[in-house]
Amino acid sequence: MAKEGYELVIIGGGPAGLTAGIYASRSRLKCVLLEANPLVGGQAALTDIVENYPGFDEPINGFELTEKMRKQAERFGLEVRNEAVDRVDKAGEDFVVYTGKGEYPTETIIVATGSEPRHLGAPGEQELRGGGVTYCATCDGPLYKGMDVAVVGGGDSAVGEALYLTRFAGKVYVIHRRDRFRADGILSEQAIADDKIEILWDTVVTSIHGEGEVEHLHLKNVKTREESTLDVAGVFIYVGVHPNTEFLDGLLKLDDRGFIITDNRLEASVKGIFAAGDCRSKVLKQIATAVGEGATTAFVANEYIQERRHKRAETESLGYDQI
Ligand code: NAP
Repeated sequence: MAKEGYELVIIGGGPAGLTAGIYASRSRLKCVLLEANPLVGGQAALTDIVENYPGFDEPINGFELTEKMRKQAERFGLEVRNEAVDRVDKAGEDFVVYTGKGEYPTETIIVATGSEPRHLGAPGEQELRGGGVTYCATCDGPLYKGMDVAVVGGGDSAVGEALYLTRFAGKVYVIHRRDRFRADGILSEQAIADDKIEILWDTVVTSIHGEGEVEHLHLKNVKTREESTLDVAGVFIYVGVHPNTEFLDGLLKLDDRGFIITDNRLEASVKGIFAAGDCRSKVLKQIATAVGEGATTAFVANEYIQERRHKRAETESLGYDQI
């Protein structure tokens, strides 16, 4: 590969990418981390309270936690650039990573691009986005002081963010399509016990209405088929996530939902590319699993690079001996 190229490009600056950066920098790999957003931290940085990441006996704010990771990585010399990756091309056994600002020839890549909130697909959702339809309680929650809001979904995000919204909102309705939460037990118990939260079980949002701003939702009970209207000033949608893997454009094998398939060493279907964190096909998407995968991918990428060096040196010395 070109001498001015990188040994490793990390794409994505959430907990997985930042941890990969800490390990790669400590291994003295020539490495750069490319993050599309001006602020690193990914979805974790938008989480108000993280209670299940080990090492903190008190809850920690997600932004604070990921800022600590960034500072730690930069202390070891990690170069972090605010550039969005558009495309990755293979170049022999190496790769070129393209951003709007430049190109990065590299021997290996760690994809740690995470995931983004899915849309509900309800009529009115697109039209009222930014006018009360939102996907980020941390960003928009404080705007709803004393007002009634709804949260849609029943996973960790929906329930965790509903609890966060109780700090500002008058009342928080959690609208969930089933009769039990998918969220972890402690979160679910807290939400069920919270006086400010009312849970509408077995209920779906059929449409969102308002003149420029959300005013009410149309709901349907999926068991009784009963339809109703709910007056709210905002609706926070947390119905799952989809992976940020479109830019790979067929380069890697993905599962049927677009998450990257890896082997147990976290290597993707193309040699030299590894995947870590929420963009990977796996059972548990947590900060705790993302950091473990970040560390593993940096370690395995380094092993791969050193093996290539070793093989190249062997080939060169064989050629020399035979002269
Ligand atoms: P999730 O776990 O996939 O939950 C999505 C929720 O939305 C589910 O309750 C699902 O209902 C519901 N849903 C999906 N499609 C729907 C639709 N069309 N209409 C109505 N409801 C719909 O997603 P998430 O909560 O965003 O979490 C994503 C990942 O991040 C998870 O692995 C989660 O554990 C993790 N996470 C962890 C933390 C933490 O540890 N602090 C915080 C946030 C997220 P069903 O239950 O019926 O499927």
